[in-house]
Amino acid sequence: MIYPQEFDVIVIGGGHAGTEACLAAARMGAKTLLLTHNIETLGQMSCNPSIGGIGKGHLVKEVDALGGAMALATDEGGIQFRVLNSSKGPAVRATRAQADRILYKAAIRRRLENQPNLWLFQQAVDDLLVESTGQGERVVGAVTQIGLRFKARAVVLTAGTFLDGKVHVGLDNYAAGRAGDPPAVSLSARLKELKLPQGRLKTGTPPRLDGRTIDWDRCTPQPGDGMGDGTPMPVFSFMGRADLHPQQVPCFITHTNSRTHDIIRAGFDRSPMFTGKIEGVGPRYCPSVEDKINRFAGKDSHQIFLEPEGLTTHEVYPNGISTSLPFDVQYDLVRSIEGLEQAHILRPGYAIEYDYFDPRSLRSSFETKQINGLFFAGQINGTTGYEEAAAQGLFAGLNAALQVRGEAPWLPARDEAYLGVLVDDLITKGVTEPYRMFTSRAEFRLQLREDNADMRLTETGRRLGLVDDARWDAFNRKRDAVSRETERLKSTWVTPQSLPTTEAERVLGKAIEHEYNLFDLLRRPGVSYEALMGLNDGRLRSPAISDEALGTLHTVVREQIEIAAKYAGYIDRQKDEVQRAAHYEQLRLPDDLDYMQIDSLSIEARQRLHKHRPETLGQASRLSGITPATVSLLLVYLKKSG
Ligand code: FAD
Repeated sequence: MIYPQEFDVIVIGGGHAGTEACLAAARMGAKTLLLTHNIETLGQMSCNPSIGGIGKGHLVKEVDALGGAMALATDEGGIQFRVLNSSKGPAVRATRAQADRILYKAAIRRRLENQPNLWLFQQAVDDLLVESTGQGERVVGAVTQIGLRFKARAVVLTAGTFLDGKVHVGLDNYAAGRAGDPPAVSLSARLKELKLPQGRLKTGTPPRLDGRTIDWDRCTPQPGDGMGDGTPMPVFSFMGRADLHPQQVPCFITHTNSRTHDIIRAGFDRSPMFTGKIEGVGPRYCPSVEDKINRFAGKDSHQIFLEPEGLTTHEVYPNGISTSLPFDVQYDLVRSIEGLEQAHILRPGYAIEYDYFDPRSLRSSFETKQINGLFFAGQINGTTGYEEAAAQGLFAGLNAALQVRGEAPWLPARDEAYLGVLVDDLITKGVTEPYRMFTSRAEFRLQLREDNADMRLTETGRRLGLVDDARWDAFNRKRDAVSRETERLKSTWVTPQSLPTTEAERVLGKAIEHEYNLFDLLRRPGVSYEALMGLNDGRLRSPAISDEALGTLHTVVREQIEIAAKYAGYIDRQKDEVQRAAHYEQLRLPDDLDYMQIDSLSIEARQRLHKHRPETLGQASRLSGITPATVSLLLVYLKKSG
């Protein structure tokens, strides 16, 4: 049967990519259909129940700045929030939240069910409708398992780990998309027929534990921020409110030990990874515990975070022991760990192998080069992680909607958004292992901060039709307050006469020798906005920034002004440096350069450079795994060594 209604955009898959894709297309006014295996698993976290972290948190904030759902759902479902790297510079500060799986899923589903222009339909997609046109092949719809034919002008495919998915536990394996879910075998076969270039990747997950059988007294508690230690409670969304978070709970820490490692080693001969049963490449940055024991043989202990899966369940996620070893080995290794001696395993750990498609065969809008109107987003593009998937989903969804409107795609630049970095990396470098975001992948990371994602992107989001009135109003209030207060600081002057020496020493550390405006004083190390406002001169306080006028905005406005004052010089210098680096494209690298001795580079970068021995800096910059930050460091090293 041909379904009676036609759609502008069909999104296949209701994971993190698919949900953001269909929400984005629908927000932009496209008549959108989400086809997914199971409505109950919309927004399901396949692995650990946490959102954000370094690089990933940046993507979540960007998705939020463009009106996406992930940050708001995390604020609604988050049971522990932390700002990582809070003592470091603002570029690498990152928000991370532990989420209650059920609350998170409910928050996503509610948004989908209430989104105008969006239709949901539960059914596996087995085939794509593709027609030949004067301009090559074009997708015109999708066919479900029971033969329903849905027509659309663009299709976004976000099938995650499901394409020809195979789950491994020890030497046993079976077809599945995720434990408990079916694989997408027919669709995978159809995509192979369409000759889209593809490969196999794998990822894994740990056994889940029953919290009632854990001896918590033998583990170290790790409370979140805002849980009584004086730190503020973080929020993810620019529209989020900390007072609306659910109850907050701590995580706990324990460690593997030499007995655990012996047990794991003894299972190597039945490991699907080491016996060649798994062909796909796994994520280097999220290795299985057997991989860690194998690679870091000298280490006799690894940290494990015991993360609660929710407020209404005893299930615990032991972060750090992802494994596909046989179940008897999993049982013994878990029970060898302090605090887990009596732990009951609720679900075995496993690895999953799946098809991905070479993202180098995508256009910069994520439309496939081979089939017009067909967009790919999420894990199918060789990435790993909910956040990477959500960002790509939003990107592909909005570009599908733009195409339907007959408009040019939106392509964020590398200096505009992590989203720009992610897309550019994928389509130019491709992947050799599951790709995840890091701040080091961005050469402009001082300007691509979490805190200014809205300043960078919300205006664009509004222009594209992604940002609603409430967000737009809130954004404008913040932007106006920042600009008014910045202007006021720049035009408010203090002189040695108006600022007595004792007062200057108290607040600024030393007397001022000539006239300064407040913004310049704020640039000084150690001088905070709060301290400036505490200067004993009523004239310096502004009603525009008062708590009463701005409510909770006060803190974020102040933060923006402080960062702008303190880091402006660095940001400008970084821009110059990256532009100059472009001129070094042809710079020859000495034949005898010993990369392994360059301490400023990561071990991974040193190994890759050592292995490939590029002739020029330009060649080095294009090696997979060599980030722009590495190139800058290499340049600095070359300059220093003459
Ligand atoms: P998914 O979240 O997989 O969603 C795909 C959706 O598409 C599902 O709803 C599925 O039902 C639907 N679907 C698929 N095919 C069809 C079809 N033919 N018809 C209809 N619907 C379809 N990430 C990390 O960052 N760290 C980790 O440690 C980590 N470990 C993981 C371990 C496991 C076992 C798995 C499975 C994933 C892991 N991930 C991890 C990856 C993370 O889950 C994914 O990156 C993320 O969920 C990808 O989002 P997605 O939307 O692309 O796909």
